Amino acid sequence: MSIVYVLGAGASHASVGTPLGPDLVWNYHEDCFQLSELFGDAAIETGPSFDNYRKFLVLMEKEFPELSGIVEKWDNKGINIYNLPTLQKRHYVDELLQLLQFKQDSQSMTLVRQLTFQHIVGSGMVGTNDLYERFKADVLAKIPNGEVSIVSFNFDSYLNEAPPGVTFDYLLDFHWREPNRLHYCSSPVAIPLIKLNGSFDWGICSQAGHLNLLHYFLRGDFYRHAKCNITSCQGVLEPLVILPYTDPSSKLSKLWAVAEEHLAKAERVIIIGYSFPPYDNKVTELFQRCLRSGTKLEIVDKKLLEDKDEAGAKTRLRIKYRALLPGVKIYEDHISVRGFEDFLLNGKRRKGKLD
Ligand SMILES: [Zn+2]
Repeated sequence: MSIVYVLGAGASHASVGTPLGPDLVWNYHEDCFQLSELFGDAAIETGPSFDNYRKFLVLMEKEFPELSGIVEKWDNKGINIYNLPTLQKRHYVDELLQLLQFKQDSQSMTLVRQLTFQHIVGSGMVGTNDLYERFKADVLAKIPNGEVSIVSFNFDSYLNEAPPGVTFDYLLDFHWREPNRLHYCSSPVAIPLIKLNGSFDWGICSQAGHLNLLHYFLRGDFYRHAKCNITSCQGVLEPLVILPYTDPSSKLSKLWAVAEEHLAKAERVIIIGYSFPPYDNKVTELFQRCLRSGTKLEIVDKKLLEDKDEAGAKTRLRIKYRALLPGVKIYEDHISVRGFEDFLLNGKRRKGKLD
C-alpha cells in the first residue's frame, strides 16, 4: 500500500512547541527567552537577540495606526509587554508578508523572514521532540520499504534522520554536508521527506547556488554570519525556504513535481496538523489535482476554542474538506480532532465508516 503522510505546523507544534500562525513572530519574546532576560539587565535587553524583534515592532507601528505605542511599551519592558493590543488577522505574519510584497518592501520582508527563523528555531529548543521520535519508531519504521513518503510544509528540522530509526531522503543534491549528518541517506531505502516550502537547515549560497545540508539544530543568529562551506567559495548562506507571498522560487520545483507523483498514486493520505490556509492555494490545487475518489483520506487536527465540542469540530472539518476536495470521500472515523499525540496512541485502531 502506498501511504503519504502530510505534516503541517500543528505536528511540529505538538512535538516541540514551535509557534502556530497567530503567535508567529509576535510571541517571540515569550517563547525564546527567560523572564529574567526580559526584566533583567539593560545590556541583555538591548543585545542582538532582541534587535529584530524591536525593529519588527517599529515596522508594525508604522504600518498599523491601531498598534501605536507598542514600541514605547517594549522599550519600557515590564508587564507592559504582555499588554500589547489585541491582534487582528491582518497583523499575522502571513497577511503582513502579503502587504509588504504588495509594497515591494524587500527590506522589511527580510526582517520578517529573519525573525520567523529566530522564533521557530529558538522556541523548538525547549521541546522534547517526543512525538516525532515516536512517529519514526512506531509508525514509519513499521511500514515496508518503499511504501511511505512524507510531504511536509514545515521549515524546522525536528523530524530528521538522526539515529535511532529510519533515515530520510530529501531528494535534493547537496554540494556539502555537515559532518554530523553522516546518517543522511539519499538512497531507495530512505523515506522520501518532501519539504515543499524548503527547510531552515538547507543553506543556499549566494554566489554559486551551492546547497549546504547544515546541522539539524541551528542557533537563532546562525544566518547572520553563515558562509558557504565549499572550499574557495566566498558566498554567504541563506535558508532555502519559501514563506507565504515571498519569492516563488523555482529551486524547489523538482520537489513539487515529486510530491504530485506520490500523492497521485497514494492509496492512503494522512494529513496531520495542516490546515490548507488561503494563501497556500498552490497546495490546495496540488491536492485537488492528485487525490482521487478512491484515495483514503484521514485528517488529524485539533479542536479549536470556537468549536462547541468534538462533534462540532469534526463537522467543521468535514464541511471544510468537502468544499476543498469535493471528489474525495471522507470517512467519519477518519477525522480526529484530538491531535498528533492521540493519533500516535490510537490512530491505528480507527476503522473506516463512510460518512
Ligand atoms: Zn558556494
